[in-house]
Amino acid sequence: MSPDLSDVPESLTEAVAATLRTVGVEDGHIAVVLVDEVRIHELNRLQRGIDRPTDVLAFPVDGIDPVAGPRELGDVAICPEHCTDVTEAAVHGTLHLCGFDHQSDNGEMLALQEGILRDIGLPGGDDSGPAPELVTRAGFVGLAGRPNVGKSTLVNAMVGARVAIVSDRPQTTRRAARGVATDSEAGWQLVLIDLPGVQRPRDVLTKRMQKRVEQELAGADVALLVINGEEGVGPGDRFISKALLGANAQVPVICVVNKMDRIKRGAAARVLTDAAALQGVTEVFPVSAKTGDGLEELVQRLAGLMPEGHYMYPPEDRTDQPSNVLLAELIREQVLNRTRDEVPHSVEVSVTEVEQREDGLTTIRAEIWPETESQKGILIGRGGIKIQEIGTGARRRLEEELGTKVHLDLQVKVRRHWRRDGALLDRLGIE
Ligand code: GDP
Ligand code: MG
Repeated sequence: MSPDLSDVPESLTEAVAATLRTVGVEDGHIAVVLVDEVRIHELNRLQRGIDRPTDVLAFPVDGIDPVAGPRELGDVAICPEHCTDVTEAAVHGTLHLCGFDHQSDNGEMLALQEGILRDIGLPGGDDSGPAPELVTRAGFVGLAGRPNVGKSTLVNAMVGARVAIVSDRPQTTRRAARGVATDSEAGWQLVLIDLPGVQRPRDVLTKRMQKRVEQELAGADVALLVINGEEGVGPGDRFISKALLGANAQVPVICVVNKMDRIKRGAAARVLTDAAALQGVTEVFPVSAKTGDGLEELVQRLAGLMPEGHYMYPPEDRTDQPSNVLLAELIREQVLNRTRDEVPHSVEVSVTEVEQREDGLTTIRAEIWPETESQKGILIGRGGIKIQEIGTGARRRLEEELGTKVHLDLQVKVRRHWRRDGALLDRLGIE
């Protein structure tokens, strides 16, 4: 990338220099380049696999040059159309190139960034001090609830993008899928954790899931107990409300009564009363994740419950799932939807390769892992008909998600007892 310095205002060069001074990298050199929306979109896709424009991207130079002289740290690409403040974007990108990472440093980088911006005086502001800042709120919302009550659908509806896998069969969400919902004008961000269904521990996998629920809840600011309004409150919901209370009594529990679109008028009052009576539940919100009814009230209430603090993800982000994991989930969704009960949820999908070609075609290689030969036979089908069907359905979903043509190469390989194989679970990112 060659920086077109004639386009870069001096204030940005100064912001970069000030940042380098602040972090003590006196001999660093960074190229800043201003790019348009199309280019930043392309760069974002190539670098992070995220298919949309963003405000700023940092491209570090690989390895540290041992030769004396100015150190090449890398490039910062900024898209002014997508920035609330280009100076802030320049400081942000520079800090990334200096090795800072706000996603894992407990606020260190963002605090530093704020200090630097204060020192150089925010652009547009006069000398009477910095412009009044928007107080932002951000926090974690943990979703719990029996399988199939609509947690994934709810996360997707709140985030406004499809991030978690939705299926009409229970227990398809094994990983903690996060959705991120941000309202930049109002200044809040909700990080939604779609928890796997809480169950009584049965094998290694479900024990791990239970542990995960407790861990995720420990860091949550609010817990949502989602129930299926159509079915009413049952023993499973009571079990979960107790489990939530037991896992962390500090976290307020809001009960979301979902699928209100399926409830007859007379029955609603009963369900809502039962929901309010659940142990630990402090508030009840009737919604339909499908139609969107009641979601605005719920989201506003959640936003109000978030603690004051910096956003945890860039406002344009919708998920923190590595994109290969998301792609694998989309393929697994097709496996589950197209095999019904013959193939259990123990089937895993692993995306082994994603290659984006110049001509706009994305090649994806993935493996489907059943546990037995007979499941493998079902997945492949007579004359390969089933795997073709799965492949075609998955390719369509992947194309929708990536916005490119997709060539999908699927292989079916038996992996016995992978549910009990801790090392394999670790590699899959299921902890
Ligand atoms: P999860 O297992 O709790 O994550 O549930 P999912 O989000 O996968 O949803 C399970 C099924 O319920 C899917 O078929 C959804 O389309 C359906 N569903 C979810 N929310 C609603 C709703 O508000 N109304 C109706 N009618 N169906 C819903
Ligand atoms: Mg789900």
